[in-house]
Amino acid sequence: MKIKILGTKGEIDKSLPRHVKQSGLLIDKTLLIDLGEKSYLKYHPKWILITHLHPDHAYFIRRGQQENPATKAVLFAPEKARGTQILGKKRKLGPYSITPIPTHHSKHVKSQAYLIKKGRKSILYTGDLVWIDKKYHHLFDRVDLIITDGSFLREGGMIRKDAKTKKLFGHNGIPNLIRLFRPFTKKILFVHFGSWFFSYPKASKAKLLALGKKYNVEILIGYDGMKINL
Ligand SMILES: [Zn+2]
Ligand SMILES: [Zn+2]
Repeated sequence: MKIKILGTKGEIDKSLPRHVKQSGLLIDKTLLIDLGEKSYLKYHPKWILITHLHPDHAYFIRRGQQENPATKAVLFAPEKARGTQILGKKRKLGPYSITPIPTHHSKHVKSQAYLIKKGRKSILYTGDLVWIDKKYHHLFDRVDLIITDGSFLREGGMIRKDAKTKKLFGHNGIPNLIRLFRPFTKKILFVHFGSWFFSYPKASKAKLLALGKKYNVEILIGYDGMKINL
């Protein structure tokens, strides 16, 4: 799989030269995951998988946006909106086997990670994340690469609890996500950086790499335009 990371910043105002765009990941120029920027349509993907309907992952639900990207590609999401089809169970798209995995992130929208397999190679792209229920963990055992949420460096991230439903929502901390995924992979790539990353990027990157050393896992630091061959 030829992976290109298109955007690596979260829903924040700050930016850096290599962290300008919002979520998007292109595989083999045909499969796009998350559509944080309208400009990603210029790659003419065949299929688009949306992790959840927040505007930094699905630009077309932003207020004032009229376009319907479903006229340009087959558009899948965890729920219906503007021409999306629901991808609720494992299926094939061309050479890819796609498994949606429910995640905890928001109290208003449904969210899911995608496990993508092609031949012997596999990746897990989580989107924004608090947690994934234990019953799904076996699905991503020995995955080659996990791409996940860099919103918060601090332990515990920012997680809140809905008073009525008791559901957790928000973003977990990077150390927590490393501990979640470390048993299942050797490589974790962080994208979707929050404010913590932007003031002193050199120091921020050093902190990420130090966590990799601490937990004995390879940490990759995403940037807009980053290419990975799997
Ligand atoms: Zn987001
Ligand atoms: Zn979100």
